[in-house]
Amino acid sequence: MGLDIDSIVSAVRDVSAPDGSAVVLHEPEFTGREWDYVKECIDTGWVSSVGKYVDEFERRVAAAGGTAFAVATVNGTTALHVAFLLAGVKAGDEVIVPALTFVATANAVSHAGAVPHFADSEFRTLGLDPDALARHLARVGVRRDGACFNRETGRRIAAIAPMHTFGHPVDMDRLAPVAAEWLIPVVEDATEALGSTYKGKAAGSLSRIGTLSFNGNKIVTTGGGGAILTDDPDVAKRAKHLTTTAKVPHRWEFNHDEIGFNYRLPNLNAALGCAQFERLDQFLEEKRALAAAYAQRFETVSGGSIFVEPDFARSNYWLNAFLLDEDLAGHRDAVLAATNAAGLMTRPCWTLMHHLPMYAANPRMDLPVAESIARRLINLPSSPKLARHA
Ligand SMILES: *Cc1c(COP(=O)(O)O)cnc(C)c1O
Repeated sequence: MGLDIDSIVSAVRDVSAPDGSAVVLHEPEFTGREWDYVKECIDTGWVSSVGKYVDEFERRVAAAGGTAFAVATVNGTTALHVAFLLAGVKAGDEVIVPALTFVATANAVSHAGAVPHFADSEFRTLGLDPDALARHLARVGVRRDGACFNRETGRRIAAIAPMHTFGHPVDMDRLAPVAAEWLIPVVEDATEALGSTYKGKAAGSLSRIGTLSFNGNKIVTTGGGGAILTDDPDVAKRAKHLTTTAKVPHRWEFNHDEIGFNYRLPNLNAALGCAQFERLDQFLEEKRALAAAYAQRFETVSGGSIFVEPDFARSNYWLNAFLLDEDLAGHRDAVLAATNAAGLMTRPCWTLMHHLPMYAANPRMDLPVAESIARRLINLPSSPKLARHA
């Protein structure tokens, strides 16, 4: 069977740009009070590491992330790096991350001196498969001294980092007992999932430590930025300390009690973020409406389907995803070529982590589902403003 590529191009066109204009994958939008707030930083000189917007931004992030505390960082990768350190990850440990993720999840593990250990995903969420992980740990895991070790490498498995792919929450209630059974703490990579909920709880608040990103392509942006989320006051305090050079507060002395990081978010970026957060609810509504429009329009398109959230999730639909049927996966690049040639920006999924040269020899389980998703998935234009045609 062949594939009617024109019917796919038409469906993307009808939903995302019926007026025939070109569209990108995900575009930031600054039509609120962004300019006022950023200008105020410049006018007052408070552009850098101190200022009222950082505190205000952290309050807004914690509220949206459903946690008591949020610590702003310069990007999502640094938030993940520090989150792993806070979870107790040490040099020489392993951290379970999905093979199907953006490279930052694995890189942050490496920055902590640890080794990413790749796990498979499930079709229902596009995220970590708790059952496959349980089977894998039963094979390679050994419990010793209150921790889990990999019997094949001898290294401690110090954390599991589920990532909510394109905003769709991992099935955390199935993952939590596996993590608990194997004594492994969970660090949530919720960088794509601001505003998503799992069984009514906000992504980022579903484990002891969560992380967000405010990169330019995320649902709201600070230009570049991230955050560490937690309900634990001690973790929050230590997150702030580590991300601000581990300086001991004093009126004039420069004392630092450990090797900290300069990972703080500048006030200028936080100002942009405060204005963006005023739009979050609107963006979420529009992105969900856009996802519904894709799902409906593609009902009459054969050869694949639009990914739809499972019952337990309310997703931010950060990036919409079209999945070709397995037997048509070979047409993926032709679909990408045709849509992009038509001015409709589409993209394949990330190259799986174990296919990247620096992670090719890392420990991993069998990855049949991640491989299948990566072969077949195409991300569609997903900016909130695309929902405003109707
Ligand atoms: C965006 C993103 C990050 C963080 O990226 P930054 O660009 O450093 O903010 C981490 N993990 C995933 C899966 C992401 O999509």
